[in-house]
Amino acid sequence: MSNQHEYSFFQSVEKSFEKATKFTKWEKGLLEQIKACNSIYSMRFPVKMDDGRIEVIEAYRVQHSQHKSPCKGGIRFSDAVNQDEVMALASLMTYKCAIVNVPFGGAKGGIKINPRQHSVYELEKITRRYTSELVKKNFIGPGIDVPAPDYGTGEREMAWIVDTYASLKPGDIDAAGCVTGKPITQGGVRGRKEATGLGVFFGIREVCNMPDVMKRLSLSTGVEGKTVIVQGMGNVGYHCAKFFREHGSKVIAIAEYEGAIYNAGGLNEEEVFQHRKATGSILNFPGATNLANSSDALETACDILIPAALENVINGSNADRVKARIIGEAANGPLTPDADDIFAKKGILVVPDMYLNAGGVTVSYFEWLKNLSHVRYGRMEKRFTENMNGNILEQIESLTGKKVSDAERKVIQHGPEEVDLVHSGLEETMISATREIMDIWHKNPEIPDMRTAAYVCAIDKVGTSYAELGIFP
Ligand code: GLU
Repeated sequence: MSNQHEYSFFQSVEKSFEKATKFTKWEKGLLEQIKACNSIYSMRFPVKMDDGRIEVIEAYRVQHSQHKSPCKGGIRFSDAVNQDEVMALASLMTYKCAIVNVPFGGAKGGIKINPRQHSVYELEKITRRYTSELVKKNFIGPGIDVPAPDYGTGEREMAWIVDTYASLKPGDIDAAGCVTGKPITQGGVRGRKEATGLGVFFGIREVCNMPDVMKRLSLSTGVEGKTVIVQGMGNVGYHCAKFFREHGSKVIAIAEYEGAIYNAGGLNEEEVFQHRKATGSILNFPGATNLANSSDALETACDILIPAALENVINGSNADRVKARIIGEAANGPLTPDADDIFAKKGILVVPDMYLNAGGVTVSYFEWLKNLSHVRYGRMEKRFTENMNGNILEQIESLTGKKVSDAERKVIQHGPEEVDLVHSGLEETMISATREIMDIWHKNPEIPDMRTAAYVCAIDKVGTSYAELGIFP
């Protein structure tokens, strides 16, 4: 999935950033500071593998911006990890957090391993050693830098990180806030797992609910009945497919690295997931057609294409063959600047990664707040709200002489659980961010695409924050 034709991933991010600067009011020096990666920690450490061999592990943590503390961003395990990639991903985190008003600087970590080629015990040793390297250099902590899951990592790895951190910081009452995406039992928050996929859905749904935007694309409003193709069946892709299907869209193709499947009548992501688990591949799914190459799914006609795997999958060499009307970037950096130019010319709407996939970090922020406040969301108000709603209902019933059914009573009385509050906070965040970016774009017709509008939004927020710090008298 490397980008052989154009720029490195970090150069792509810089190029998109520079495209937006002329629409902002900030002076060159400040723009240079916003763009630069502030701290780069490149490390090598030895780990003894199960067969007794010692392997030197290459790993990184990049803090792109400390204009707000802590820094925030996931850790990926992939054998494609390199410093340039981690720098690009850290930069995107800064802009992402700024757009959705999550008060963090951007960071990212990466360990250059293929997790499929290691035992669970080896992965645990690598993760714990990486964490202690971060502690040694003060690159982790609830007020310093807070990692999270990314490609190739999940709750299990986050549990190892928090346990290692807490054991090295005895008595730190806020230790649970050193990492997010933890299992619920280790201080995680309900709703984090599906957050990125749900955020992507909320963002695209909002775009689809904009009549003027849909008119320009010759599409009807709403997500119902729209055809969707998802590339990548990891946590993000799986949940994207789930929420689109549950809201009446048809997921007609799903791609993974071993191949892609197509069914014009729609695919059920859970059944596909179970089939892959049982057979080791998504291919030969009952009722679906196999596509010859995994990348064919990207070029199949649909309303909404969701690349939810890795960067640079749509570039100057295949963008011309993409037939979708809307591309929702669930992954980080799936399109190159050349692809952007092609889509802008063809009138295909690209909804950019740097805000569309911000659901993960938004709910990470909720998790971090939960850890620092040491109380579950909803604990204080759930019962109070239920009692209050019950009283109001009783009054209405006695005034009208009518009674609601038991099922209706349950809905009306319901006090918020943690997951309800998290989902609603996420929905509000994604809707507001979509409207804010679209507004910037509409107010300045010279802005060529939605990504540039998103960069303008991010640069203005980070710029304001630097200016307010008063470090440039
Ligand atoms: N890895 C996710 C992202 O790229 C989540 C980061 C976080 O929750 O800090 O946005």
